[in-house]
Amino acid sequence: MAESKMVHPPLVTYASMLSLLTLCPPFVILLWYTMVHADGSVYQTWEFLKQNGLQGLKEIWPRPTVIAWEIIACFAAFEAALQLWLPGKKVMGPISPTGNQPVYKSNGLAAYAVTLVTYLGLWWFGIFNPVIVYDHLGEIYSALIFGSFIFCIFLYIKGHLAPSSTDSGSSGNAIIDFYWGMELYPRIGKNFDIKVFTNCRFGMMSWAVLAVTYCIKQYEENGHVADSMLVNTILMLVYITKFFLWEAGYWNTMDIAHDRAGFYICWGCLVWVPSIYTSPGMYLVNHPVHLGTQLALSILVAGILCIFINYDCDRQRQEFRRTNGKCIVWGKAPSKIVASYQTSKGETKTSLLLTSGWWGLARHFHYVPEILSAFFWTVPALFNHCLPYFYVVFLTILLMDRAKRDDDRCRSKYGKYWKMYCQKVRYRVIPGIY
Ligand code: NDP
Repeated sequence: MAESKMVHPPLVTYASMLSLLTLCPPFVILLWYTMVHADGSVYQTWEFLKQNGLQGLKEIWPRPTVIAWEIIACFAAFEAALQLWLPGKKVMGPISPTGNQPVYKSNGLAAYAVTLVTYLGLWWFGIFNPVIVYDHLGEIYSALIFGSFIFCIFLYIKGHLAPSSTDSGSSGNAIIDFYWGMELYPRIGKNFDIKVFTNCRFGMMSWAVLAVTYCIKQYEENGHVADSMLVNTILMLVYITKFFLWEAGYWNTMDIAHDRAGFYICWGCLVWVPSIYTSPGMYLVNHPVHLGTQLALSILVAGILCIFINYDCDRQRQEFRRTNGKCIVWGKAPSKIVASYQTSKGETKTSLLLTSGWWGLARHFHYVPEILSAFFWTVPALFNHCLPYFYVVFLTILLMDRAKRDDDRCRSKYGKYWKMYCQKVRYRVIPGIY
């Protein structure tokens, strides 16, 4: 089975699996309810639940409505069509453990531009008002929760009956297979890559669409957009633009090259991203904080700087790998370790590990600007409520866990060479601290 499946001790794996499977769906609904109907106050929601118990949760939980399903279906079909039919350069993915090399069409940036222009155009010409999306948000999340669960069951069955490539397999445990996934590169037909759809074209794209939706809702409600909302939306859109600019690079990361298509990654991208990742903006709709030009601009500049550093870390690593180490890193030839490893077929291969530039500061330094960017698009909400900061806290935990998972994976892949890297670059994430 894939090496990522049991990176934690079995008990931790089972506990985290069970808690994610049972707690995440109600959490999404409670977060939406608190942001939209309880003034962003965890205390208010807590009091309500204390008085009404499970019945209260049932009352809060919106039923998926026809309009919610229609909105999701139109969006998904539109994104799938763009993914399939927009032109794009052919890009080769990394060679998989069984020696397959997926081929992608790099048209993410075009799809992103078409999506935003279409969405804004529909609003501008009075064809579809994004406010409808905001007003049915609870029903949409509810439909996404159930729909994505069924989608993950489909992935599980497909993994058993019709895997798209040899990068597939069962652990022998149905729950683990469902949770971590069975296929690395599931496809429908030859060209429709399911993980590109769930992670990029549905998950990341819905983030951008919802960020714009929140802005429009505030505008239609108040006749203007507060500077806090503007800073939040601009930073999120800059981040998502950066993502689509670099989408082909994303196809080389853990999410795509190592994590299989299961509940953990696919449900996360289909439900968690549109709800939790967008939540600071969701909060700001009803809390139009006035920051003033100086503070707003300072937050904006700090946020853009962090997004740029995060982008530059990824770019540096990928440029270094692409040129086989023959590039310039911070004005000098890069320092590196030539690490050899064995594939699952027993072949010996080599990879280069960059040990200078951003990658010489800490082994996962790129997570620092990632977390700070999220902080900067949340801080326009100021500090009246803690819930808008949930995403920053969640992201910090996710990335610390990811840094450990990646370290463990690289240690088992590269053995003594990873040890050499750890001796040279001692810190895992934060230079001098951790
Ligand atoms: P990557 O997969 O891009 O990088 C880690 C991989 O790079 C390792 O598995 C290893 O793969 C290779 N590697 C490790 N060290 C070195 C080195 N010194 N030199 C060269 N290659 C090395 O990381 P992530 O997928 O975690 O992150 C990609 C981006 O996505 C980041 O910007 C991150 O912040 C962002 N991200 C955002 C999340 C969010 O929810 N907002 C969640 C996760 C990531 P190999 O086997 O090829 O050697």
